Formats: sequence, C-alpha cells, structure tokens
Amino acid sequence: MENRAILEVKGLKKYYPQKSGVFRRTTNYVKAVDGVSFSIHPKETFSLVGESGCGKSTTGKTILRLQEPTAGQVLFKGNDLLDYSKRDFRRLRKDLQMIFQDPYSSLNPRMSVRELLREPILTHRLAGRKETEQLVRDIAEKVGLSKEQLDRHPHEFSGGQRQRISIARALILKPELVILDEAVSALDVSIQAQILNLLMDLQEELDLTYLFISHDLNVVKHVSDRVGVMYLGQMMEMTDTEELYDNPLHPYTQSLLSAIPSTDPFKKKERIILKGDVPDPANPPSGCPFRLRCPKAHERCVIENPAFQEVKEDHFVACHLYDRVEEAGEVPDLVGSLR
Ligand code: SF4
Repeated sequence: MENRAILEVKGLKKYYPQKSGVFRRTTNYVKAVDGVSFSIHPKETFSLVGESGCGKSTTGKTILRLQEPTAGQVLFKGNDLLDYSKRDFRRLRKDLQMIFQDPYSSLNPRMSVRELLREPILTHRLAGRKETEQLVRDIAEKVGLSKEQLDRHPHEFSGGQRQRISIARALILKPELVILDEAVSALDVSIQAQILNLLMDLQEELDLTYLFISHDLNVVKHVSDRVGVMYLGQMMEMTDTEELYDNPLHPYTQSLLSAIPSTDPFKKKERIILKGDVPDPANPPSGCPFRLRCPKAHERCVIENPAFQEVKEDHFVACHLYDRVEEAGEVPDLVGSLR
C-alpha cells in the first residue's frame, strides 16, 4: 500500500438546520455527520459501518458534495475539494465516482445500456465518437455484459445485472476513487458474492481505491483493508480489518460483532443485546453519544464526549474505558470476557 493518502477527510460535519415558529427560524440542528476524520490510501478499501442513520451514507455524499458539508476538509490528492467552485468541481468529479444501492433509480429507463455508458463520456467530453464506442465495448466486457445486452434497456435486466451497468457507468470515466454506498445490500446473497468478486477484480485491474459503505459486517470483513465504525454521526472505532474483528475495543463494535454467528463451532460467542434504539440525532444525549445503550456506561460518560484517540498502533477508539491507556502504557483487557 502506498504511504500517501489519496483521500483525507478531516473534521467533516454535515448539520441540517431545523426550523420552527412563524418566522421559520433555525432552532436546532440535526448533526448527521459530526466531526468525522479518516484517510484512505491508494488501492485500499476503507469501509464505513454502522446502523442505519449513523451518518455513513451522508459522509459519502458530502465527500462528493452531493450534499454540501457544514465544515471540515476533504483532501483529494492533497487538494481540498471544498475549495473548488461548483464548476471546477464538476470537472474533477470524473476522478471520484459513486455507486448506489438502487441502480434502477440512477439509470434512465428510456436509455439503452449503450446510451447509458456513452453519456458520462459525452458529458465530460473525454473522447471522440469512435473512441467512445470502443470504451463502451471495453467496459461492458470488463463488467460481464455482452454486446447484445448493450442495446437493451434497464428494465430488461435483473438487479445484479443492473448493478453491473451502474459499475460500468462509474468506471468508464477511469476514476481513482469509487464510493460504494450499500452497493450490494439489495442483492440476493449469491448475486452479492458475484458483484463483490467483480468489484475486487476490477480494483486489482484498474488500481481503484474504494470507500465501501455498508451495514453488513460480514460483507465488510470480506472486502476491507481497514474499517471505521460510526454511531450517531461520529467515529467510534477505526483500525485494520483483522484487528477490528479479532479485538474490538469499543462497546458498540463489540455488540455489532457479537451478532455475527461464529464460524468456529468450538468458540462460544455471547450475544450482546443493546437496549433501545439509536437516539434522535436532533436530540443526542450529553457526553458519549453511545451512553444510553452502552452496557459499560459510567458517570464520566454522561458529562464528557470521549476523544477519538489512538490506543494501540493504528487502532483508534472514542471511549472513556481507554482513557487510562496513556498513563498505563497498555490497552486494558476489558473485552476478554466477551470473546
Ligand atoms: Fe460506553 Fe462510556 Fe465508552 Fe461511551 S465512553 S462507549 S458510554 S463506556
């Protein structure tokens, strides 16, 4: 993996104002993303996981300015994407693509696959007619679409095939970073595996970097190099995949992972059931955002939001249980009983 990050997200925030009263004044904010930071290296797959409403998809959309961030920096190859005018940013967008969960809504039903694949090239004026046709044929072949299928329309395809069209449409521009937002979540398990294998093959072949957004911890384990766990708009834990699944430190991550059935019949796993639902982001709890559901919450958690700190090499956690790490010089074994 190359050392220099291709994408650095620093203190990213996306607040939605809530208006009320006769004069529609802003009286509150929904903090969908609240100070999230991470970086992704070239050819790496970094995943964001968490329950629905944790802010992972909003993070992806604000990186691409599909929704304008409230604050923070998004450095792509060292340049802050938020400094670009909308016009200049559109030119840059070909290097950063996004693939969504529901391909049907992002594909114009009146266009044939050929037209759908041509469109991004024409929009960005990247090639002449002949070259465009060649690019269309090449990318179709790469994603497993036949020549005959190029003249069909989206409704004539299955969900998996439609996702292949979306992938082809994103990759025809030869992007460097692809954001996959629940890209396989709507597919049957067997089709999901085919699309994931295709994505991994294409990553290898085209030197792609992925930001993979998903609620599915099994899928994330399979595809990621590193993982960030989000809760209520904030990052709770971040480390490399093996470390996260073998040694989760944050009580939230522990509860998420405890729900995955063990593949080892001799390894007993205790399921941690969380109390209640994710709180309303317009009315988050004081102190730690997870404290209302945390089985290990204590007095300090009510008062103070824990800092997101490195407690082991490349293992970051936001939890007061690890505040004493700096003084003690080692990570306390607070989770042994749960493994
Ligand atoms: Fe639980 Fe407190 Fe840690 Fe938050 S800071 S995860 S409430 S122990």
